[in-house]
Amino acid sequence: MNQQLLHNYQSVTHQLSLANTKTGFLKPAQLLAVSKTKPATDIRALFELGQRDFGENYLQEALPKQSELADLPIVWHYIGSIQRNKTRDIAQHFDWVHTIERDIIAKRLNEQRGDLPPLNVLIQVNIDDEASKSGVQPDELMDLVNQIKDLPKLCLRGMMIIPAKEGGDAFARAKALFDEVAASSSLPHWDVLSMGMSGDMAEAVAHGSTIVRVGTALFGARDYS
Ligand SMILES: *Cc1c(COP(=O)(O)O)cnc(C)c1O
Repeated sequence: MNQQLLHNYQSVTHQLSLANTKTGFLKPAQLLAVSKTKPATDIRALFELGQRDFGENYLQEALPKQSELADLPIVWHYIGSIQRNKTRDIAQHFDWVHTIERDIIAKRLNEQRGDLPPLNVLIQVNIDDEASKSGVQPDELMDLVNQIKDLPKLCLRGMMIIPAKEGGDAFARAKALFDEVAASSSLPHWDVLSMGMSGDMAEAVAHGSTIVRVGTALFGARDYS
């Protein structure tokens, strides 16, 4: 066992459980281990420590790792941007998708899911209205919810955000929007708010996150070279 990885995992799960205890929310936030650029051996090591949910951003990297780890009942989350010609592999090889931003993509995933159980999906919301960022604008969210909610092979679970910068009120605005959709629509499975990463995990949990997506704090810095 890689001692650094063990140490990091214990530290992150400890911080997360502390953050969860401090909130009054019914649903404790879960840890999604973001393993992009990291080897399958690291994923296997964390699995052996009890981690079940892993997130990947790039298909060409995720698919070989998934075959290498096919003996483990890992729950795979796709958290990267989705190109139209990649939907079939995503529909077939993942349990969750956090990055839905267009109805055409949702419809393709729905058609391509085949006989597998419904794919859990989150709509990515561009909460800070950044030109460069993915996601629907907050005022477009309801339209997309209505396009997706009755697709039989998708289970619409909630939304995902990446705030523009630390220290703003993006988490609070996201939680308000999340609650607004829950109140205004009959969505039986709308229960997931994916927000918070290595640097702002506790703050996101304090604002009602139910999934924190943590890479660096678990696996160390990424090397893209
Ligand atoms: C890479 C990535 C993360 C993890 O970020 P860290 O800062 O390394 O914890 C979380 N969410 C998304 C969408 C990512 O692409």
